[in-house]
Amino acid sequence: MKTDVLGVLYDNITMEEAVAAGRAFLTGSKTAYCVTPNAEMAYEALHNESFRTLLNSADLVLPDGAGVVLGAKILKTPLKQKVAGIEFAQNMLPVYEELGSRLYLLGSKPGVAELAAERMLEKHPKLIICGTADGYFKDESEVVRIINEAAADVLYVCLGAPKQEFFMFNHKDELNVRLMAGLGGTLDGIAGTVKRAPKWMIRLQLEWLYRLIKEPRRLGRMMRLPKFILAAIKKRWKGKEYGKTDRV
Ligand code: UDP
Repeated sequence: MKTDVLGVLYDNITMEEAVAAGRAFLTGSKTAYCVTPNAEMAYEALHNESFRTLLNSADLVLPDGAGVVLGAKILKTPLKQKVAGIEFAQNMLPVYEELGSRLYLLGSKPGVAELAAERMLEKHPKLIICGTADGYFKDESEVVRIINEAAADVLYVCLGAPKQEFFMFNHKDELNVRLMAGLGGTLDGIAGTVKRAPKWMIRLQLEWLYRLIKEPRRLGRMMRLPKFILAAIKKRWKGKEYGKTDRV
């Protein structure tokens, strides 16, 4: 079931259900793509119709972050839970091991995908990682060719938003994978090059504050989170729709 949160149609599912959906795509016949919009991305989608269409055309739309869950709650259309992209990416690994699915890691700075692959293999020795490439390439069609040549079944696309969503949407017909997912900084997180917040901060929904302290240059982008919440409050109390000409 889809839940509309300020125009982005999220799958209202638990992590367990998301993994089951991912598994079903692996045994299906089409190329499915999964997006993981957080509040920053959802706020961008509020004012950017093509990005919104791209998110809403995905086969799986996961609510990445406490901001989205809070926004949905304010709008009185609560989501079952946060389904963070990085956790979905990790929870799918045993499924690939079981099915023998070949995983390709694309994105982040040179060396990071290789490190993430090592970390994954430490925990999941039967996992098949059929290739890695950094996210700073010029020729997209060459990258598509290499991924197909590696006979990948699953592709993790970690190029940041909206680059990763455009990459998946634009190449889904050429890529011979069953499942691909746009996962932002997931490879950095798994590789350990960018640390996740301590558990207590995640529990208190303060992961955003940790990232802000670590990377103050993110402030401009992160201001989209309170703006997103404000837009939800305004819509809830005034029944007001925010479109591209009506910035909050
Ligand atoms: N990135 C990339 N190619 C680019 C731009 C960014 O591979 O052209 C990578 C970047 O190195 C980082 C990831 O995309 O690993 C996500 O970046 P960001 O922190 O902006 O995303 P978030 O985690 O907030 O979605």
